[in-house]
Amino acid sequence: MSVAEIVRDDEEERGFKSGVPDKVLHIDDVHKSFAGLHALSDVDLDVRKGETHAIIGPNGAGKSTLLNVCVGRIRPDRGAVVFDGHTLTGKSPHEINQLGVARVFQTPEVFLDLTVLENVMVPALSKRDGHFRLNPFRALGQEKAIRAEAEEVIASVGLAKHLHSVASSLSRGDKRRLELAMGLVQHPKLLLLDEPTAGMARHDTNATIELLKKIKEAGMTKVIIEHDMHVVFSLADRITVLAGGRIIAQGTPEEIKNNPKVKEAYLGEEQV
Ligand code: ADP
Ligand code: MG
Repeated sequence: MSVAEIVRDDEEERGFKSGVPDKVLHIDDVHKSFAGLHALSDVDLDVRKGETHAIIGPNGAGKSTLLNVCVGRIRPDRGAVVFDGHTLTGKSPHEINQLGVARVFQTPEVFLDLTVLENVMVPALSKRDGHFRLNPFRALGQEKAIRAEAEEVIASVGLAKHLHSVASSLSRGDKRRLELAMGLVQHPKLLLLDEPTAGMARHDTNATIELLKKIKEAGMTKVIIEHDMHVVFSLADRITVLAGGRIIAQGTPEEIKNNPKVKEAYLGEEQV
């Protein structure tokens, strides 16, 4: 580690402790067991503002569980998650979303009976007017602006030609893009992505990498779980490696590539 990095780390540490977080997301000593199986043990992780942080690891390593802890779907047995000065542990997924955390799940969660445009308008409306569920008429006055924004985001993920297609008719890859658009339209402070290119052909994967690069240039902080090392090494500023629910390595892509523990964890998978 260079002197400059040590100084920066030290400054960030102090910044975080004095309540000026360079670290947008702070995962502190998280544990989670499922019926005796330790899905997560002693997990500590900091995500810095603006970085793309990849979480990798063999199947069953606990990656999705960690993401679900962050979004409030799974309550950890121990430990806490702090985002932007707010403790997320104990909050509902909706409350966490309202704080500026959006996610794209491993299995796309879209409204299958709605069109692409309608799917993206739902989170856009929700973001503009947190009460729209109670009073849908409050949001109607804003519909035109919201629709224009939704169309723009849909075009940016490459789904313009499917604007009025019903989501159930989309390919799996396109459903994932739709879910990404549903996340982006919220202008989140933190975007969590669980294997965003799973089920995509190489061509679509490359298009997604380009899109995620653009999002990165715009300064959005991202945590990305990814199995495809081409995607990881194209996008990540830093990488955390999980195996058997524990962090076995953390560092830059270069450091991770050359880490023998990581190679060992992946033996048989031929990924690194
Ligand atoms: P990854 O995303 O890294 O493949 P997961 O976080 O999905 O791994 O799973 C980690 C471990 O926890 C696995 O052994 C999995 O079977 C187990 N697990 C995950 N979710 C549950 C659950 N809801 N109930 C029981 N076991 C679970
Ligand atoms: Mg998973």
